[in-house]
Amino acid sequence: MARGAWLLERLLVQGTATAVEDIEGRWRRIRLEGVGGLDWEPGQHVRVQVGELSLRAARDMLRTYTVWDYDGDALELRVFEHGEGPGARWARELEVGAQVMFRAPEGGFTVRQGAAGHVFVGEETASVAFGAMMRSLNGRARAIVEVSDPADRLPIGGDVQWIDRGTESAYDSKRLVEAVAALEGLTPGTVVYLAGEAKTCQSVKRHLLHDRNWPRRDIVVKPFWTPGRRGMD
Ligand SMILES: Cc1cc2nc3c(=O)[nH]c(=O)nc-3n(C[C@H](O)[C@H](O)[C@H](O)COP(=O)(O)OP(=O)(O)OC[C@H]3O[C@@H](n4cnc5c(N)ncnc54)[C@H](O)[C@@H]3O)c2cc1C
Repeated sequence: MARGAWLLERLLVQGTATAVEDIEGRWRRIRLEGVGGLDWEPGQHVRVQVGELSLRAARDMLRTYTVWDYDGDALELRVFEHGEGPGARWARELEVGAQVMFRAPEGGFTVRQGAAGHVFVGEETASVAFGAMMRSLNGRARAIVEVSDPADRLPIGGDVQWIDRGTESAYDSKRLVEAVAALEGLTPGTVVYLAGEAKTCQSVKRHLLHDRNWPRRDIVVKPFWTPGRRGMD
């Protein structure tokens, strides 16, 4: 094994896939067990090894998925079926019993403790993070989530406004900007979390800053993917 690959392997955690199944809509549930002792904050993600361990093919080696839940020994992921990328293929082909390598949970897209309120805005992929974060807030939060099909609504709980986009693209969603523009009763000090398709995140952020004069410090943004880009982190 090349020295680089050996080093990478040292940095990864190993879990066993004990459940791999299609659940609602286009979602695939993946449960990885035997991964005790990890630090995890709701909203954080793992970078999963979905391709061969090689520095030369680094771009297709790791893909990022939010931790839907972690109970101290097992970690749950929700992967959205969307095409032929290495991540989508990995989720489709993974079998129970397989060993899965990933980097320990990381990332700063987490709940801002002490905020006056919390509003989450994004599409399907973002709803994994929103579910974990909203659970930790015991429902003291609102979300606006766009999905292509009502069957793709993850059980994220709390006060959720679902927006159906049908067969239209998730890219630069005008529907999400309009839904945020129509939001009433936002208390000053409320934090707005934007995640999912990158151009939509930008458009909603621009609306908040320029049309609503929402303070920049109260907007948290994490783009997850955008058409044409591979393996955003
Ligand atoms: C912090 C973070 C957390 C994330 N959490 C999750 C999660 O919990 N669940 C989840 O399913 N995804 C999640 N994502 C998104 C996921 O990492 C991307 O969708 C990733 O691109 C998938 O890799 P891939 O190999 O399938 O496709 P890639 O090879 O990376 O991309 C190939 C092409 O597929 C298209 N594409 C990529 N993603 C999507 C999509 N979601 N819908 C439609 N078209 C797409 C784009 O055109 C892209 O150019 C997260 C991303 C980040 C950065």
